[in-house]
Amino acid sequence: MKLEVMGVRFDNVTMDEALERARTLMATPGAACVVTPNAEIVYEAMRDPALCQLLNDADLVLPDGAGVVLASRILKTPLKQKVAGVDFADRMLALLAQTGGRVYLLGGKPGIAELAAENMRSKHPGLTICGTADGYFREETAVVEKINQAQPDFLFVCLGAPKQELFMERHRGELQVGLMAGLGGSLDAFAGTVKRAPQWMINCSLEWLYRLIKEPRRFGRMLRLPKFLWAVVRRRISGG
Ligand code: UDP
Repeated sequence: MKLEVMGVRFDNVTMDEALERARTLMATPGAACVVTPNAEIVYEAMRDPALCQLLNDADLVLPDGAGVVLASRILKTPLKQKVAGVDFADRMLALLAQTGGRVYLLGGKPGIAELAAENMRSKHPGLTICGTADGYFREETAVVEKINQAQPDFLFVCLGAPKQELFMERHRGELQVGLMAGLGGSLDAFAGTVKRAPQWMINCSLEWLYRLIKEPRRFGRMLRLPKFLWAVVRRRISGG
């Protein structure tokens, strides 16, 4: 079932249900597409109908972040839970290691995808990573060709939003992959170059605060979170 949060239609799924859906999509012909919008992206989409449409056209729309779940509660259409992109990706890797699926890592600065691949292989023995490429390329066609040659079942697209969503939309018809997912800075987390918040902060919905302390340059971007929540509250009050 879909639940709308400020124009973006999220799949109301638990992590386990998201994985089940992903498994089905991966086995269905054609390149299926997963997006993981957080509150910042939903706020962008409120002001950019094309981006909103792009998100809603994906096969699976997962709520990445406590802000989206909080907004759904304020709007009285509560989502079951946060399904963080990086956690979803990690569970997908476990699944692919078990089933012998192939993974391709696209995105991040040069060297990051390779570092992430090394860590993924040690955490999920037996995982097949069939290719890696950094996210700072000029020739998109060459990148698509390289991915198709590697024949992945699951493609990480980590170019930041909305670049990754636009890339997936542009090449969906020609990409020969089972499933691709826009996963933002996930490769940095897998590579260990950007640390995730401690578990207690994640549990207290304070992951945003940890990122703000670690990466103060994100301050401008993160101001979108209170602006977003204020817009949500106004929507709730007006009942619109
Ligand atoms: N990135 C990339 N190519 C680009 C711009 C960004 O590969 O042209 C990568 C960047 O190195 C980083 C990720 O995309 O690994 C974006 O990370 P961020 O944490 O900003 O993700 P978001 O919050 O947008 O999901």
